[in-house]
This record gives sequence, structure tokens and C-alpha cells, in this order.
Amino acid sequence: MSVYLHNPLAAFCDTPLGGVVIADGRIAELVAPGGSPETGVTSTFDASGLVLLPGLINTHHHFYQTLTRAMRRAINQPLFPWLESLYPVWAGLTEPMVASATELALCELLLSGCTTTTDHHYVFNEALDNAIEVQADVAAQLGVRVVLTRGSMSLGQSAGGLPPDAVTQESSVILADSERLLRQLHDPAPHAMCQLALAPCSPFSVTADLMRDTAALAETHDVLLHTHLAETEDETEFCLATYGQRPLDLLASVDWLSPRAWFAHGIHFDADEIARLGENGCGVTHCPSSNMVLSSGICRARALEQAGVRVGLGVDGSASNDHSNLMQEVRQAFLLQRLHDGSVTHLDALRWATAGGADVLRRPELGRIEVGAAADLALFALDELRVSGAEDPLAALVFSGASRARHVMVAGQWRVRDYEIAGVDLADLQARHGELARALWSS
Ligand code: ZN
Repeated sequence: MSVYLHNPLAAFCDTPLGGVVIADGRIAELVAPGGSPETGVTSTFDASGLVLLPGLINTHHHFYQTLTRAMRRAINQPLFPWLESLYPVWAGLTEPMVASATELALCELLLSGCTTTTDHHYVFNEALDNAIEVQADVAAQLGVRVVLTRGSMSLGQSAGGLPPDAVTQESSVILADSERLLRQLHDPAPHAMCQLALAPCSPFSVTADLMRDTAALAETHDVLLHTHLAETEDETEFCLATYGQRPLDLLASVDWLSPRAWFAHGIHFDADEIARLGENGCGVTHCPSSNMVLSSGICRARALEQAGVRVGLGVDGSASNDHSNLMQEVRQAFLLQRLHDGSVTHLDALRWATAGGADVLRRPELGRIEVGAAADLALFALDELRVSGAEDPLAALVFSGASRARHVMVAGQWRVRDYEIAGVDLADLQARHGELARALWSS
């Protein structure tokens, strides 16, 4: 079976494109404008009037936070008090809540043109032994490509950390469970639908020993490492007071300056630290909405990239955004970064959300429209009032602000057709999710 996506209005691709042939879940052929496929095709899909993008890649999220959006006790505060007001709520999470939050976040992401997403789940209580398996099952049902992370918190308030002890675990428990999940869920092959990475939460919620042991475990299993880093000045002050080191020096001392590692936020790095991140092949996820909502600061995305750092985008948790729409995040990145550096263009923002994210996740087969790449694609229609009158269709997605993909394909399979996800009743999902959210707030 092969499909010919014919005659897109525009495409985010290095070469002029008249169409794309999809076979066996991959891009089999790029057809020049006016040309015909050399590959035999079994069906043709008319893409005229549609803008074709590689499926967007989200490199930082916390799905469970969809249940605690716009909470009165948390909003309009910086990160530390925001976290302190939400940790006790998150302590009440159950597996049905995680399942529903995962389904809702993945549907939101899919409808925004996202085909690959990570998730950073770091809250574990006695009711959440199987949280990561639950997430993997939901992702498999929806057909979304995922890089799930086994998050962790081990430094509770009684030991000088920020989170309450009730949401932390012993390091030995975390490491054993991480190893179990790596064996069970991680598929190392290119084009894998489910991979796993290891993700201690942050310097202020995890011990240095756990950071070091987690890096060693990632090395043994050849998987990636992820954490929050250089998000706020409070974090820098915490690290200086607790360890006598700036956050990046702390990470370097526990073997984290490595091509395996990617860091969410990456705001408060000095010039020397940016150079070191590049020299060590690290990645950074820029989360513009979250950084603005929490008043955290501005990631220097251009300087990081120029230093050799891999840069991608993330919506971050839906309690500091408070949505999971990655296409809207492309526009936020474009606006915020242009304000900071006038050399940034809409093409940079689109690249960070596609090939940039793939590079962050060490997945060269994703995020690109080229032969052999995964057939992960998003098609946008310019059918809203806000884009009427636009000349450049690709630029219009960013400047005028597209927010929903009309069709989305993952691994050659249509997952969104005409703005609908096959097999998902969104009204029912929203009702169930809302009910679980209310149960969580009152738990
Ligand atoms: Zn985060």
C-alpha cells in the first residue's frame, strides 16, 4: 500500500515539492512540482490548498498537569511558590487520572499537528506504580509516537528539597523501577513508536547521588537523560546555597554534561555555560509560554544553537501554559525569540518544532520531509478568517497563528482526518477528564 500526497500548496521542506509518496510508514519519494511519482502508488490524496509540515515534535511536557490548569491557588506566581501550591494536589493522582490526562494531552497535541511527544512524569505515590505503562498503553491506542521519561523526586522538604516528602521516593526504588521500565518499554530501533528516557525532576527535588546513578543507568542502557535546568534564578540560588555550585556545574559534577542529556528551559546560563553545553553536545527545550507565565526569563535559543546546542520546543506542563497546542507554541517561540533577537525568523521557529526536536531526541529519522524519514506529517488548511489575505502560506501559519491541523499522519497512518481523531469521542473525553480533575482538586 502506498499513498501519494499530491500538490500541497506549500511545504516546509528543503526542496520545491509537488508531492510525497508514503509507503511502509516512511517517505518513499519526493516528487518535484509538475512531476509524477516513479514509485507505484495505490491511492492519491489531494493535498491542494493545504500546507504540509513534518509532524511537530514536543520535547517537554507533563501530561498529568492537564488536570490542574488555571488553579486559583497557583496562578500568577513564580515557579517555586507555584510548585509548592500544586505538589499537595498532585500527591492525590491515581492511575485513571494519569490515563485520562495522557489521552487528553495526546489528543490536543495530535490536533495541533504534533506526531511525536515526550512526557516527563515525576510524581509517584503508592497509587501510581504503573503510571508509565498506563501512558504507554494510551499512546499506543492513539498511535502517537512517544518518548516517555521515568521521572523522579528523591529530595523532600525534610532533607532540604522543595517537594513534600509524600511525593518523593527512595533512590533505590527509583533506580530499580527505571531499570524495569527500560527493559519493558524502550524500543531502541529507528522509527520506534515508544522509547524511554530517564528524568530526575530538577536540582531542587533530587539528590546529587541519584543524578549520578541515573546517568550511569542511562549509559548502561544507552538511553537519553532529561531534567529541568536553569529555569529560574531561585534554582541558581538553591544550587549555590546547597551545593556551592551553579546548576550547570552541579550537573557536570554528576556526569550529566553529555550528548545524552537534554534540559528543559535552559534560561539562566552565562556565555561560558552556553559554550560548554555546545561542546558537550547537550540539548535544550525552549518552553516560551511556560517561561512567560511563570515569569522565569527568556531562553537564548539563538545563542545556544550557535554554540552547537540542539534546540527544540516544548509546551511544558499544561498547568504553566495552560494548553498542549504545539502549533501555538511555535508562534510563541517566534514572537518571544524575535523580541529578544531580530535575526530569528518564522522558519527558525518551525525548524525548532520539527528537525530541532528530532535532534534533541536523537531521532534523525523524524521531523523532516525527506526520503527514508518517518511518514509523520501534518497538513494545515488556511481556512480561517485570521489567514485570509496572506501571501506566503508557510509564514501565515506562524504570523497569523494556525492552531489546528486538518489532517495528521503518524508512521503512514492517518490519525486525524478533517479535524477528527478516529475512535475518540472528544466530548466524552472532556467530560471524563473534567470529572477526574475535580476529584483530584478535592482529594
Ligand atoms: Zn516542566
